[in-house]
Amino acid sequence: MTDPAQPEAATPDPARSLLLTDPERRALWARVSEEVERYLGEVGRAPVAPPLSVEAVRGRLGPLAFETPMAPEEAVAFAVEGLWTQQVHTPHPRYFGLFNPAPTAMGVAADTLVAAFNPQLAAWSHNPFANELERHLLRAFGTRFGYDAEVVDGTFCSGGAEANHTAVLMALTRAFPAFAEEGVRALDGAPVLYASSQSHHSFVKAARFCGLGTSALREVPTDAHHRLDPERLEAMIREDRAAGRLPFLIAATGGTTNAGVIDPIAPLAELAEREGVWLHVDAAWGGAAALLPELRGALAGIERADSITFDAHKWLSVPMGAGMVLTRHATALHEACRITTAYMPKDAAGLDVTDPYAHSLQWSRRFIGLKLFLSLAVAGWEGYAAVLRRQVALGEELRERLAVAGWRVVNATPLPVVLFEDELPREEGGADPEAVAEAVVRSGAAWLSTTRLDAGPPVLRACVTNYRSDSEDVEALVAALGRARLELRANLPAGAR
Ligand SMILES: *Cc1c(COP(=O)(O)O)cnc(C)c1O
Repeated sequence: MTDPAQPEAATPDPARSLLLTDPERRALWARVSEEVERYLGEVGRAPVAPPLSVEAVRGRLGPLAFETPMAPEEAVAFAVEGLWTQQVHTPHPRYFGLFNPAPTAMGVAADTLVAAFNPQLAAWSHNPFANELERHLLRAFGTRFGYDAEVVDGTFCSGGAEANHTAVLMALTRAFPAFAEEGVRALDGAPVLYASSQSHHSFVKAARFCGLGTSALREVPTDAHHRLDPERLEAMIREDRAAGRLPFLIAATGGTTNAGVIDPIAPLAELAEREGVWLHVDAAWGGAAALLPELRGALAGIERADSITFDAHKWLSVPMGAGMVLTRHATALHEACRITTAYMPKDAAGLDVTDPYAHSLQWSRRFIGLKLFLSLAVAGWEGYAAVLRRQVALGEELRERLAVAGWRVVNATPLPVVLFEDELPREEGGADPEAVAEAVVRSGAAWLSTTRLDAGPPVLRACVTNYRSDSEDVEALVAALGRARLELRANLPAGAR
């Protein structure tokens, strides 16, 4: 019972710990922006890959049982410390890794705004601005790839894997009208899709997730340049049809993850048209070449693809995840994803608009497009072209420096990804690529990886897709490689040197 004589003690607002007070919030934003600025400003001076350790991370997390609340800035400091010390610094100018670039400043700003406004991109009517902005961008990129603006459709998604999965679903639904309702069991044969041995492995998962099984994905042999071979593919399609199987999709790659190989898209478009199968081009990272007039020709034929995967979070440096799947079939995505519910808002039912939840694998969806929109609005196509052009030139410079330093480049691509090995054969004391990569990474001087081209031996792999990398960084990478090679030779038993 309250005593009327006593002034009532103010009940603390239960939301306070979530909303914080005005001064706490102001201090928090200031602290966060300071940390962001410090990270982006100073990461170039840190080792690219600090020693990473499960024990170190678990040791810090273990004592945290969430029984005693932390102060906001203390919690931020805890997270920042973990991020600084326990991650490969992909925004580092000497990270020559897997297309994880430095994020654009406008992209970081956009993701902050998106978190705060928290628009829901499930129903169009909940945020006409966000939905129409994404549609505008999809058209802008669709037309860059050569689609007619009037027919471009698509959706933003988490990344290339989801985009590829969506494309497989569109192709399946288009080829087999019974698929949507009755699934693959309704079909008269086993559906088959084709991709080269160099294609991205998300197609394996897509085949599994679509209920086709991974054996539905037929690996097409590549030619001497590791490109999907259209003649071999044509023969495979013929054989599969003869055996009663149902070819429905060719997945070409516009810049393989591994080696930047671009499949012969125009001949594949012809084959797909002749055979009546869907052509998808996975241009997750290489698609950015469409922004450079001098490289656009490498993707010739992409405008004839039925669908395209493109990731803005790779070569366009937008923070993860910012994938897109585009199609020139205005209703294909709707056919694959259509759904109606009693509870979703119907406010937009009379308008000529699309509700994203019926147009995507996702339901509640974050506003992905803003980070690309703000980045492109500020850089313009020209700003992006200038950055890409410099990276292509740095890739070329890397090839030249490697040749001078006694390394042999083993891939051919106009894109800035370089596969290479010691000029000296292994049996004559040539360095083991995996040991070299490990030594370079351990030194903290740079980050690069190894891979294999088809069934070949391991080779070193470096790509230049960070807009902050310059000539000095490329030079430093080659120097670090040289040091690692020397160190490895010195450690060999005398007879093997
Ligand atoms: C990176 C990549 C993918 C996968 O994209 P995520 O954004 O990681 O899901 C698919 N295809 C290619 C060619 C890629 O390079």
